[in-house]
Amino acid sequence: MNGALLRFDRAHVWHPYTSTVNPLPVREVVSASGVRLRLADGRELVDGMSSWWAAIHGYSHPVLNAAVTEQLGRMAHVMFGGLTHEPAVELCRELVEMTPAPLDKVFLCDSGSVSVEVAVKMAFQYWIGLGRPEKNRLLTIRGGYHGDTFAAMSVCDPVNGMHERFAGVLPRHIFAPRPECRFGDDWDETDTAALCRMLEQNHGRVAAVILEPVVQGAGGMHFYHPRYVRRVRELCGEFDTLFIADEIATGFGRTGRLFACEHAGVAPDILCLGKALTGGYMTLAATLTTEKVARGACAEGVFMHGPTFMGNPLACAAARASLSLLRRGGWRTDIPRIEAGLRNGLAPCRELAYVYDVRVLGAIGVVELRQPVRMAEIQDAFVAAGVWVRPFGRLVYVMPPYVMSDQDLDFLTGAVVRVVTEHCR
Ligand code: PMP
Repeated sequence: MNGALLRFDRAHVWHPYTSTVNPLPVREVVSASGVRLRLADGRELVDGMSSWWAAIHGYSHPVLNAAVTEQLGRMAHVMFGGLTHEPAVELCRELVEMTPAPLDKVFLCDSGSVSVEVAVKMAFQYWIGLGRPEKNRLLTIRGGYHGDTFAAMSVCDPVNGMHERFAGVLPRHIFAPRPECRFGDDWDETDTAALCRMLEQNHGRVAAVILEPVVQGAGGMHFYHPRYVRRVRELCGEFDTLFIADEIATGFGRTGRLFACEHAGVAPDILCLGKALTGGYMTLAATLTTEKVARGACAEGVFMHGPTFMGNPLACAAARASLSLLRRGGWRTDIPRIEAGLRNGLAPCRELAYVYDVRVLGAIGVVELRQPVRMAEIQDAFVAAGVWVRPFGRLVYVMPPYVMSDQDLDFLTGAVVRVVTEHCR
């Protein structure tokens, strides 16, 4: 890209989570292969982000490339209303097979946030179908993040400030305290007491409890006890409320289980998937539910949702290829290997007084600082160190592609330790 185009970018292109008034610098990436991003200036960066949890097999993977190219020769896109095609149907069949029973209805959509919108609409429409329209509130937990569209924003933690400007126009839902009991700690039954009280107080009003099982992502990178999720599932039964699991970030192996719900041994009534679904190739998400919920939701008619690019064949082909790579099973040994590498590699950060906590679960490593990072400075420092890591707030975190070698992992964690030591005090 020439200088004029980069200036156009700065003046006209709106990047995620930025201000147009004072945009943060962006770097031009020209290609990506394996676990490396190549910048326009020739530098190569080892990728610690998997492009926000998505590129689990690394970039430009031959199996994914071949699947998309082959599908491109047949049909790039066709409307999904009144038509169907093999890439979508095969993908849905595979999703039904691999997700916890009895999730057996699949709604394909185009992004994680939209899959949350669809999940919420399904839940509300289910209770309307059962003649209980007053069950129209959602209960969630603090520290959560579910996306940037309206229903999704309404269940993001209001205190983390991401969406506080919209507080006046967002529906008011119910927020239980963030789980205290961490993954790996002894389980304390009292952790769900407040949530239980809130369900009691709002009995007959709650359509669904929605949460990110075991790992809260963008809302704080918090790893909490699977027994919390199991208890929430039980409480949803006791209080006749649906349980929505948002596994957009955690799905497809990231936490060491194929789905994070498996740590708790539970199945949700509605499951949201996205991000790694296509191995990070295309934008595609899915909302799965049970026969029971789907039947209730359609008791009084159709489900009014139909994205133009629903079931996009290229995206479905990429997703099927990604699932075929997961079925080969390498992730089952890669995730514990990466977990051990992150634990060892990030351990020196524990010694730093300005580091509040270092935690690792599966292929996710987090260094939580006591103060927010200086974003521009730390981003420069990471690029200078030869890695792509994008912190936010007080969190420096990595979630590398599952295929990262031990050597690259050492390089990545070494860079994190150095940058945190030199630029975060
Ligand atoms: N839910 C969770 C748990 C997420 O991590 C994200 C993305 N960060 C979303 C929903 C929204 O997904 P998308 O960005 O694809 O809309």
